[in-house]
Amino acid sequence: EDVVAEKPAEPPATTSTVKISSPDRIIDPTSKLTKSKLAAYYEAMAPVMLPWLANRPISLVRCPQGRAKQCFFQKHDAGSFGNHVHHVDIREKDGSTEPYLWVDSADGMLACVQMGTIEFHGWGSLIADVEKPDRMVFDLDPDEGLGFDDVKRAAEDIKQHLADIGLTSYPMLSGGKGIHVVVPLKPQAEWPAVKSFAERFARALGEADPGRFTANMKKAERKGRIFLDWLRNQRGSTAVLPYVVRARAGAGVATPITWSELKDIDSPAAFTARDLDTLLSRADGRSLTHWGTSDQVLPEV
Ligand code: ATP
Ligand code: MN
Ligand code: MN
Repeated sequence: EDVVAEKPAEPPATTSTVKISSPDRIIDPTSKLTKSKLAAYYEAMAPVMLPWLANRPISLVRCPQGRAKQCFFQKHDAGSFGNHVHHVDIREKDGSTEPYLWVDSADGMLACVQMGTIEFHGWGSLIADVEKPDRMVFDLDPDEGLGFDDVKRAAEDIKQHLADIGLTSYPMLSGGKGIHVVVPLKPQAEWPAVKSFAERFARALGEADPGRFTANMKKAERKGRIFLDWLRNQRGSTAVLPYVVRARAGAGVATPITWSELKDIDSPAAFTARDLDTLLSRADGRSLTHWGTSDQVLPEV
């Protein structure tokens, strides 16, 4: 049942020459992760990560003093990342343009880490055509009282509902509190169509099973439920990218898994930055083909 998509065409550049300052700085006090360990993690994972991370606009969660201190979400360039980090001008709602960041190499990733980046988040589209998403994502955000079994069951239900309309989806542990269900798309429909589809899909589930789901962002609506966050699918929104280390206690990793693996996993942070060797070996020969490119298009509903 674990269908795999096609392998991306170009192998990326995967070793880094970027110098990391303050290598012993503690990034996560809980796991004692240091900046040099984080850099080593991203350098080793670059071949596995770049097929998804490369060539799309990214936003960064930067925590220059580690995740226990001040962090900020950076969407545009501050002009200080060096020449391994590229820019693409993207039109904003108000008609102005802003230089968004993108990378295509381990050097680019490590230049971000050197600047205090812990998390990489991506647009759901490539710089080649930012108006046409290559994925749709349902971000399952459980209310605090719910257990991971509830989130797993919700993900399975979404998978089934998507399959019923002909769409293959893949689960990713967020490394935080939930699961992202990802639907790879052929870059064809534009943002408004994908957003509208995602909203209608989430609202239909919320109406069919209001005891378990809500498609409403308001925290009060979430009581005892799972928020099916469809808002990741609007132009300009981002979602955490595969194998990113989260700026959270314990340094959980956003990990793509298969539907059959999910059955035996008991936490959305089941993998952490310490599991580098495990992540590398389980990725071998598989994760490069896990979502990849797709010919899926959204059905008319
Ligand atoms: P969790 O499983 O704990 O919910 P998550 O990555 O899904 O982890 P959310 O809070 O649900 O976290 O956020 C969903 C996405 O919204 C993030 O992956 C990120 O790309 C984006 N996001 C998070 N913080 C910001 C922010 N300050 N500004 C803009 N977008 C953000
Ligand atoms: Mn979430
Ligand atoms: Mn969310």
